[in-house]
Amino acid sequence: MAVGLVAEFIVAVDGPAGSGKSSVSKEVARRLDFGYLDTGAGYRAFAVHKLRNSDAPLESLLESFDYQISHDPNDQWVRLGRADVTDEIRQQAAADAVSEIAREQSVRQLQLEDALERIKSCPHSGIVVEGRDITTRVAPHAQVRLLLTASEETRLKRRGLEKTESAQSLISRDQSDSKVVDFMTPADGVILIDTTNLDFQQSVAAVLDVIEAVQHG
Ligand code: C5P
Repeated sequence: MAVGLVAEFIVAVDGPAGSGKSSVSKEVARRLDFGYLDTGAGYRAFAVHKLRNSDAPLESLLESFDYQISHDPNDQWVRLGRADVTDEIRQQAAADAVSEIAREQSVRQLQLEDALERIKSCPHSGIVVEGRDITTRVAPHAQVRLLLTASEETRLKRRGLEKTESAQSLISRDQSDSKVVDFMTPADGVILIDTTNLDFQQSVAAVLDVIEAVQHG
């Protein structure tokens, strides 16, 4: 890791759940020795924060949100204050609560500012940032902007291996999320990669090809 660098090369990756964006983004970051930022983890951590303080008004939740996340694709952890919530944010309770909280503009603004700060302070020459609004709102200036999709059947099959989230809950989370930001169709200048018929290594190669073309093109 090259300490002292700021992440100047940004790879922005959006897409629905099960598109492969998290595992592919992490692997791309490893291969390039880039940092990695999972913005969904920030929203999930906020959902856990809310579940833990169910009586607190939103304003005070925003003020007391003390959240840290790793930049390292090989060692992902998430903390709320001093508590490690890496596993808790993946549990069903957080998945069920997250879409509603992600609709709040004040929460989105906080997450957006937080992501920009983390991109700026990432101690690598580049960073892969993934989420739903990275290509459009968080980093529309990114050198590489990608939308990873896959058919619903494929996405459910991939997620079927993850026992923490049921198929129905994934479909309704995507439906609810896509009313907040459109991550199903690529914005202007965003490259669409459909991974329906690609395996993991092929998906990684497709993303690396685009990055290489931009870096050397
Ligand atoms: O990526 P992941 O599925 O972990 O994201 C969890 C939730 O966070 C999404 O369902 C969505 O509601 C919200 N999210 C968002 N914008 C992002 C990343 C995630 O609204 N950039």
